[in-house]
Amino acid sequence: MAKNLEGGCFCGEVRYRITGYPVIQLYCFCSDCLAITGTDGYAGYMVRTKNFALIKGNPTAHDKLSKEGKTVTRHFCGTCGSNLWGETEFGLISVAAGTLDDKSQFKPTKKAFAHDAPVWARIPDGLEDI
Ligand SMILES: [Zn+2]
Ligand SMILES: [Zn+2]
Repeated sequence: MAKNLEGGCFCGEVRYRITGYPVIQLYCFCSDCLAITGTDGYAGYMVRTKNFALIKGNPTAHDKLSKEGKTVTRHFCGTCGSNLWGETEFGLISVAAGTLDDKSQFKPTKKAFAHDAPVWARIPDGLEDI
């Protein structure tokens, strides 16, 4: 597992760096995540806020209250529209794993809200519910 990772959006305007290890790697199938990604789940590479840094660009942010009443701030590139990361009130950042430069670093072991997933969702085998 790499200790330092970088990633960014499709057009290259927004770049970030991750130091340290992920806290958890998961797929989330909640309705918010389906809308954000436009597909059957959010591939979340979750790191502590202190281990995440914006190194280039000025992403657009959007706040929304989750079902649990917590604010989640989603960040995306205002130019190309790439979904980049979500920041929670718990000091965690859920980086969209598809925006990592080295996509092989995403090794999910958990799943969230799988019971809410639509019937067409592809849910990988072997993931534990969180
Ligand atoms: Zn972009
Ligand atoms: Zn979700």
